Amino acid sequence: MPDTITSSKPVSQTATEHFDVLIVGAGISGIGGAYHLTKQLPGTSFVVLESQQSFGGTWITHRYPGIRSDSDLYTFGYRFKPWKGAPIATAEEILTYMREVIDENDLGRHIRYRHIITSARWSNVDNRWTIEGKRTDNGEPFRITANFLWMCQGYYRHSEGYTPEWPGMADYKGCIVHPQTWPTDLDYRNKKVVVIGSGATAATVVPAIANECEHVTLLQRSPTYFIPARNANDLADTLRQLEVDENWIHEIVRRKILHDQAVFTRRSFEEPEKVKQELLAGVRAYLGPDYDVATHFTPSYRPWRQRIAFVPNGDLFQGIRAGKASVVTDEIERFTEKGLKLKSGRELEADIIVTATGFNLNVLGDIAFEIDGKPLDFADTVTYRGMMFTGMPNMVWVFGYFRASWTLRADLVADFVCRLLNHMKAKQARKVEVALRPEDKDMKLLPWIDTENFNPGYILRGMHLLPKRGDKREWQHTQDYWTEKNEFPAIDLDDRAFVYA
Ligand SMILES: Cc1cc2nc3c(=O)[nH]c(=O)nc-3n(C[C@H](O)[C@H](O)[C@H](O)COP(=O)(O)OP(=O)(O)OC[C@H]3O[C@@H](n4cnc5c(N)ncnc54)[C@H](O)[C@@H]3O)c2cc1C
Repeated sequence: MPDTITSSKPVSQTATEHFDVLIVGAGISGIGGAYHLTKQLPGTSFVVLESQQSFGGTWITHRYPGIRSDSDLYTFGYRFKPWKGAPIATAEEILTYMREVIDENDLGRHIRYRHIITSARWSNVDNRWTIEGKRTDNGEPFRITANFLWMCQGYYRHSEGYTPEWPGMADYKGCIVHPQTWPTDLDYRNKKVVVIGSGATAATVVPAIANECEHVTLLQRSPTYFIPARNANDLADTLRQLEVDENWIHEIVRRKILHDQAVFTRRSFEEPEKVKQELLAGVRAYLGPDYDVATHFTPSYRPWRQRIAFVPNGDLFQGIRAGKASVVTDEIERFTEKGLKLKSGRELEADIIVTATGFNLNVLGDIAFEIDGKPLDFADTVTYRGMMFTGMPNMVWVFGYFRASWTLRADLVADFVCRLLNHMKAKQARKVEVALRPEDKDMKLLPWIDTENFNPGYILRGMHLLPKRGDKREWQHTQDYWTEKNEFPAIDLDDRAFVYA
């Protein structure tokens, strides 16, 4: 873990400081936002408030064995800072990369750690936000005012993961662990471990502990698609051999990866069966012809409906082939004293049960929002392109991509925020709000995201908490990098959807 960077500026309990921009969160989005502000709007006063003791967000709160990215760092990395390592990176490597961004751009002085925000109040009289919270180290309250709020708080609750309630959990005599709160002293050596889940987290934990456990079983209700491949990028390696400048390599390799992903996504829609067979062939190549790929690695949904995890060097499958790990596809009937009873009647004994069962959605960082003294119900708002919301002035939320790397969208939204702030300055506006236009009056309002297209559990569980989308492009959250990369820079900031004051 990196050392904590402490704020150079003490916070006084009584003084109310004011900033042009307040960024919530020092994860990959917040640090990216801070970078773009300093480059695109030099002179803007801003502060980044972060409840943790250091930067990194997802990459410091997750400490389970093997924690790593599941998408490549050429695209998960920022567009402005070359990635020089293997495509799939450990949390430690991502934190080192982020630390370099902070140090190289002198961003540390803008960040205040151990500051948890609990409320955000907008006043239409003062045209500013009042942010309140407390320091997590000494409990001291703080209050800061800001013209603009840049929400980079992510999308899930960092303090605890999602564990379903199963019958008999209280009877179980072993240890139940959620990967999000993995105890540092958990001793799994020579133990029987069951990992419940089939996503990227389960696929990471299983190979990471397989060699030290007596045995690890991945228990899944239904299978997931995986792409097993060498953790290397041939193009990047060739360009390095040719001594091409790292900035060029970053740009070229990003473009190549994004091009290949666009082709893959298009094919997933146009010829899903063919793509499915290709993905399954990739798994079979690691597991051999006798393995029951049909039961354990053949999802019922079409490829790309959920994020497809990359399995570096096929390590999950190597563990299975070596007999250190196995997969059971079944449903849990109940926990027992010794482990799990499954619906098929089978019993799994376990000293440790890891519930890699997902996140709890956390839409606005557990911050109580008020607009002119009235509590805001986020679910009542309509989203403008998944980043602004009707009735919420001077605020943008960074919700990155799931199918492509999150950071691609964080960079795009950052450009939009900087352009919007510049535009407001030019217009001498103190407030901007998105509002439905006359032509949007009868627009059909729909749930936040099209679940036919994308349906992870935490979104389905939390859909009622999320804003609505419309049936027009501007009022939708498409999760489509390949169209947004062209549309965002072309957004007409004088469109009637933007109301300035
Ligand atoms: C294990 C794991 C692996 C992942 N791998 C990938 C991947 O490979 N590729 C990919 O594209 N995506 C991946 N994701 C999704 C990932 O979360 C995002 O890509 C990205 O890291 C999110 O960055 P963020 O800065 O927006 O949010 P976060 O990383 O969630 O950071 C938000 C920060 O805001 C702070 N915060 C929140 N509320 C408050 C508050 N009220 N007051 C003060 N501070 C607050 C939090 O403490 C946190 O530090 C992964 C997610 C997980 C959990």
